[in-house]
Amino acid sequence: MQLKSAQNAIPLVQDDKLDVIAQKVRSGERLSAEEGEYLYETPDLWTLCGLAQEVRTILHGNKTYYNINRHINYTNICALSCQFCDFHRKKEQEGAYEHSLDDIRRETEVAINAGATELHIVGGLHPWLPFSYYTEMLQTIREMAPIIHIKAFTAVEVVHLARISKRGRDGRDGITEVLKELKAHGLGSLPGGGAEVFDDRVHDDAFKGKIRGEQWLDVHRCAHEVGLNSNATMLYGHIETNAERIDHMMQIREEQDRVLQDQTKGTFQTFIPLPFIPGKSELAHLPGPGGVENLRTIAIARLMLDNIPHIKAFWIMQTLHMAQHMLECGANDIDGTVVWYDITKVDTADTHQECTVHDLCRAIRDAGFEPVERDTIYREVERDGHAWRVK
Ligand code: SF4
Repeated sequence: MQLKSAQNAIPLVQDDKLDVIAQKVRSGERLSAEEGEYLYETPDLWTLCGLAQEVRTILHGNKTYYNINRHINYTNICALSCQFCDFHRKKEQEGAYEHSLDDIRRETEVAINAGATELHIVGGLHPWLPFSYYTEMLQTIREMAPIIHIKAFTAVEVVHLARISKRGRDGRDGITEVLKELKAHGLGSLPGGGAEVFDDRVHDDAFKGKIRGEQWLDVHRCAHEVGLNSNATMLYGHIETNAERIDHMMQIREEQDRVLQDQTKGTFQTFIPLPFIPGKSELAHLPGPGGVENLRTIAIARLMLDNIPHIKAFWIMQTLHMAQHMLECGANDIDGTVVWYDITKVDTADTHQECTVHDLCRAIRDAGFEPVERDTIYREVERDGHAWRVK
């Protein structure tokens, strides 16, 4: 058997529509929602992924970012019961917990000793913890570790804090007020969680008690206005359609356009597609997305979100092996060393999810990329053991 040279090779699948999209991407034209939806249908996955990789290479070359971070999930007690959520518990339920400030101090100490540059803090909507718990938590960390960046509280938590603090309830002024106060106590940025899929139908069917997409975007708008950067996520692979996924990305793209136009002090830094993991949630009968779906989604995200600098392959939920493949399909960030990520567990038998720097870097190099340590706002970091500084 004689193989043809790559130049003469006939594409495995002839896809004229994808050819047109490829031309648009290569000439820097923005893709429409219809084109985004088509990318979910094209049979030519490899051209799609290759196209996303062209964009990633122009933006970031061979660099793949990671950080040394630690997650704190301060409580799993939550007033809501989202159908896809295997994390929340009610107060009296087995496994319910809430961390004391001493627990937070211990976690911070461990983060300092591990040379972490970031603490990522999220939790359930605890019905009784007072607002002072949150400001004291931030203050405690800030005093113990002034250089560690605190990325904390998803948009729904911020709305919850505005309610319990009674600062203008959950209206825009109250949200801004609370964000300013949290920032004054040490908050450095918002994570991108809780966005799920913005569509109202999906919201009403799968997480009715949670804030709608419009309010999620508004909380991030307030954060950007007070000078906090943030991320955006999409939880995919449950009850949403491809068109609803694309609409979700379009809304984030439009919001980032406004942010850039208004020159707010903060912006969306990173988009993170999160695969739905059924676990023991109320949607456990659904299979969740498969590997091809994961690769396709990350590639589409890179192509649709032309104004978001970074696309993350969140290895904790994707698995490290899948994240390696995603680095060839548009992703340029793999997240960090983590430790103890309770929100979604790939292996429900083990709540510890940790990767050493050595293993993260090896995975990145094995995939053919250059590992680059970053801090939360993507400044490159150099370190001597656990001591570190921005380059
Ligand atoms: S997803 Fe968040 S808000 Fe919804 S039940 Fe789980 S912890 Fe609560």
